Amino acid sequence: MDKMEKIVALAKRRGFVFQTSEIYGGLSNSYDYGPMGSELLRNIRNLWWSEFIHKREDMVGLDSSIILHPQTWVASGHVGSFSDPLVEDVKTHKRYRADHIIEAFLPDDSGVIVEDMSIEEMGQFIQENKVKSPEGNDLTPPKAFNLLFETEIGSVANDKSKVYLRGETAQGIFTNFKQVLDSTRVQLPFGIGQIGKSFRNEITTGQFIFRTLEFEQAEIEYFFNPNESNWEDILSNWKDGMWNFVTKVLGINEEHVRWRQHTDKERSHYSKDTYDLDYQFPFGWKELWGVAYRTDYDLKQHIEHSKTNLEYLDPKTNKKFVPHVIEPAVGVNRLFLMVLADAYTEDPETGRVVLKLDPKLAPYTACISPLLANKEELVTKAKELFNSMKSKYHLVWDARGNIGKRYAAQDEIGTPFCVVVDFQTLTDNTVTVRDRDTGEQERVAISELSQYINDRVEKSA
Ligand code: ATP
Repeated sequence: MDKMEKIVALAKRRGFVFQTSEIYGGLSNSYDYGPMGSELLRNIRNLWWSEFIHKREDMVGLDSSIILHPQTWVASGHVGSFSDPLVEDVKTHKRYRADHIIEAFLPDDSGVIVEDMSIEEMGQFIQENKVKSPEGNDLTPPKAFNLLFETEIGSVANDKSKVYLRGETAQGIFTNFKQVLDSTRVQLPFGIGQIGKSFRNEITTGQFIFRTLEFEQAEIEYFFNPNESNWEDILSNWKDGMWNFVTKVLGINEEHVRWRQHTDKERSHYSKDTYDLDYQFPFGWKELWGVAYRTDYDLKQHIEHSKTNLEYLDPKTNKKFVPHVIEPAVGVNRLFLMVLADAYTEDPETGRVVLKLDPKLAPYTACISPLLANKEELVTKAKELFNSMKSKYHLVWDARGNIGKRYAAQDEIGTPFCVVVDFQTLTDNTVTVRDRDTGEQERVAISELSQYINDRVEKSA
């Protein structure tokens, strides 16, 4: 099994990620988050919100609808051009992304930047190089395939109107820009952030949760006056914030992340500069998080299509203008996959799996157990301890099997501390605390246990 297969197997076995609707044979590019996964996802989401919304004076949050007025997507350009190049195997009729097929065909050192190719150039490349499908068959010429999911509002057939499930959370920020300005005391420069589900009719299959039909995005639009603020500085600050979040807050190894600047051809026409923060996933370096200087493009589009004035009135000069924007956009599920991949360790000799999650991220902060499940006095004491700490930490109770098995089970889900109540506890009110990463045990007084755990969780912050 390669590393990715092992991660997928662990994720299923220990309740992090399940295939959606597995009892019906599953659904492509769709996954569910189990008891451990939902906790990990929540911890990542909360840390993002805390870091980028709560800890900053210049940021506010938002929670906009998934179904917006359909004109939103016409104005944003998604109806016209939010597409991927689709090719089809002429025999099996399986669909692929032309850019991915070409990337797989090219040797690593080809120097060709597939992102720079137009759809016509991709078609030409496939034809000239006789590129085949993974099954070895001919491919149809690439055509643009729109990724927006369409649905309808209305109960009777002739009363239905077409709407879209949002393809990104960002547009809900632009359409609420004026209301946020009018309802709060924000002043430029400031940002609006939101986390929520987005939907894309993705063609590619088989990349686990890296690319799914529905996913959670955490996006920020940071508005500023280009005559007062230097966009290069703002962009660079956001890049630092993103890097810090990944390496310090989530505790990811710095060697597994890198910046990649978009080339002039690759970049969207309205963007002046774009960077991807890439992570070295088990299947290669891939985009984790993008940050783009989008100028005043989006607000201007919405002004034009909605005929609403979305200008900002500068309180100092009394002049009106359309602010510019820098957008850091990440998928929470991609952060999740990165966190799992980075934390996964396996002892080469014993095969023992330890998920070395940052303590802030672990689904459970500690496991509390009695040394022996059939000794009532130990169970009572351990339960007391559990109850006294449960409002402070997310704890798990485990009195099954022997201690060694309990430790191994907690290691696999990344629980940083295992606390055991034994016979000595009954005489001196101390417990053993075992550290997940070193396997070492220490005796700690119950009165100091919260502080002991706190110090170690905080240290990682
Ligand atoms: P990609 O090139 O991987 O398709 P993108 O450039 O289209 O991504 P953006 O539109 O910039 O992505 O979206 C911002 C972020 O949302 C991405 O960096 C990624 O983390 C996440 N994201 C985008 N599409 C998906 C998806 N289908 N599944 C999970 N996360 C996604």
